Amino acid sequence: MSLCRFCREPLTRTFLDLGLQPLANSYLTPEQLAAGNEPMFPLNTMVCDACFLVQADHEVPAEAIFDEGYAYFSSFSPGWVEHARRYAEAMTARFGLGPDSLVVEVASNDGYLLKHFLAKGVPVLGIEPTANTAEAARAVGVRTDVVFFNAETGEALAARGDRADLMAANNVLAHVPDLNAFVAGFPRVLKPEGVLTFEFPHLLNLIELVQFDTIYHEHYSYLSLLTVEKVLAAHGLRVFDVEQLPTHGGSLRLFCCHQAAGHTATEGLRAVRAREAAAGLDRPETYDGFTAHVEAVRSSFLAFLQDAETDGRRVAAYGAAAKGNTFLNYCGVTHAHILEAYDANPAKQDRYLPGSHIPVKSPDAVRALKPDYVLILPWNLKDEITAQLAFIAEWGGRFVVASPATRILD
Ligand SMILES: [Zn+2]
Repeated sequence: MSLCRFCREPLTRTFLDLGLQPLANSYLTPEQLAAGNEPMFPLNTMVCDACFLVQADHEVPAEAIFDEGYAYFSSFSPGWVEHARRYAEAMTARFGLGPDSLVVEVASNDGYLLKHFLAKGVPVLGIEPTANTAEAARAVGVRTDVVFFNAETGEALAARGDRADLMAANNVLAHVPDLNAFVAGFPRVLKPEGVLTFEFPHLLNLIELVQFDTIYHEHYSYLSLLTVEKVLAAHGLRVFDVEQLPTHGGSLRLFCCHQAAGHTATEGLRAVRAREAAAGLDRPETYDGFTAHVEAVRSSFLAFLQDAETDGRRVAAYGAAAKGNTFLNYCGVTHAHILEAYDANPAKQDRYLPGSHIPVKSPDAVRALKPDYVLILPWNLKDEITAQLAFIAEWGGRFVVASPATRILD
């Protein structure tokens, strides 16, 4: 029996078992498709009855997941760059950062965030394990160390004098297999009154909006404030403020500090604690009902596909994102149902979606096929995508989203 990644209690309660799935980011070349030996791995999540951490209960070889070819460059997404710019503005103002401060970002990617602090004259340090994205960060002047962050590397930073006034770790917590080793690094680098912010998709939204397509092999944890407060406490840290953000379908931004620091708890913290308590995130039964909701999402989507087929409608999909692949493969969708998918990232074009084997094309191909329905797979980018592809209305094309139930947009 597996033990909880955080508190080491035995895991006995299933949250959602998605069966055998290909790796969500393994887009197939025509040669790989022809070879027909696509690897599949279990995709199972459990919830700990002691700390309520929803977590992956499967092991996938790290080398299978990690592929430089698909390294994600944050600066490719205009939405993220703007999110980062506003973060830098807000933090600099709120915490009075200046030329004598240090901002450290863990998983700093290509410097998409730190460059905004640099522009305001605030010194920065990026920590990024992926060499090619770190290189891109250095090219824009962002000092970057290529290391995995943990207690030892945190200790080494502090020893050489890199102590932080502000630390950021955005959308990285869920990707860390060893939560304790990772979080243990922060108190070592953070100054006594320093502030640490974590952003992560909120488990409460995953449950309430049935966002099960955010479950894939690269995610090890699905996080609530309730559980993260327990994890931080185990490492001498505490939360003093929480903001609720619209990113990734509903994220939390936690403001944290040393247990003994002077930051006072805010109304924002109390509000999210109350929302989670009202939803029952501190009770095992709350997690038991999730599978039935996911099955209902699948039924609703398969009914839509059946109707489209009966009516002779052409269905395509937009956005070759990891979350789309979990959804399509769980529903058992193939290229017989969805003719093609479009993605602006050239590295994904002329390849095939894992599992479903739907061909991925450039967005220019939409005009050639003239699909009757375009399923938006990354639903968090719905507004961006409907604006970009508004021209499908020329032939009567319509947009479709599949969660929390299948809807044809007007
Ligand atoms: Zn636990």
